Amino acid sequence: MSNFPRIPVLVYHKIAGPSEYDANPNTCVTPANFERQMDLMALMGYKTADPAEYFKARLGLASRLPKKPFLITFDDAFESVLTRALPVLEKKGFSAALFMVSSGFGRSAFWDEETDDSPNRLLEPSGLKKLRDAGWVIGSHGVSHRNFTDLDCTSLKDEASLSKKELEEALGSEVSWFAYPYGAYSPEAKRALAEAGYTMGFATEEGDGGLFSVPRRIISGKSGLLNFALRLRQAGKISIR
Ligand SMILES: [Zn+2]
Repeated sequence: MSNFPRIPVLVYHKIAGPSEYDANPNTCVTPANFERQMDLMALMGYKTADPAEYFKARLGLASRLPKKPFLITFDDAFESVLTRALPVLEKKGFSAALFMVSSGFGRSAFWDEETDDSPNRLLEPSGLKKLRDAGWVIGSHGVSHRNFTDLDCTSLKDEASLSKKELEEALGSEVSWFAYPYGAYSPEAKRALAEAGYTMGFATEEGDGGLFSVPRRIISGKSGLLNFALRLRQAGKISIR
């Protein structure tokens, strides 16, 4: 699939200024910076790809993609995605994919040891539904944010299929995309996703370009606009298998 269009995929976490509650402040992109980055994308003529069309293109089928397509993704499903990212994206006519930990509804990022009094809450099912109804893809990020390269085959299977089932029950619609916690995957992890019925798996920087190891560029709180543009360029250069 050497002529597959090189579609940049970006990954964000929180749209917020870092606070004392953040175990990992780099996962926060401020609302102002996020808006500037999206302004830049729109200015450069980028449009978000329709997920179904993106998938068709990945399979090498005829698809309808914009001239300069890209994908926006959010891991962990913080409330700030709904309250701060959605309004910015709607203004631009952009959509995104959100990856949720199925045991995390209304909780804090417990895997980062963020405590219950953290203002950075994870979305409730109602929030997820709002995003889905706005045209977003809701995908799975596992049951409990465990690192898939640390799991045996039984646990991989459980994380992949239980999270799919729990999210589908909460949403009342199908969940077919997955993002590996920490971006970490292995051949066994890919197989577990395929066997559980997912159609796509997203890694981060180390993704090798396969359907179950799509690389994404992490946009961190450290990314100024120049660095953002550079990362976008890198994303466009990734070769896809
Ligand atoms: Zn995560």
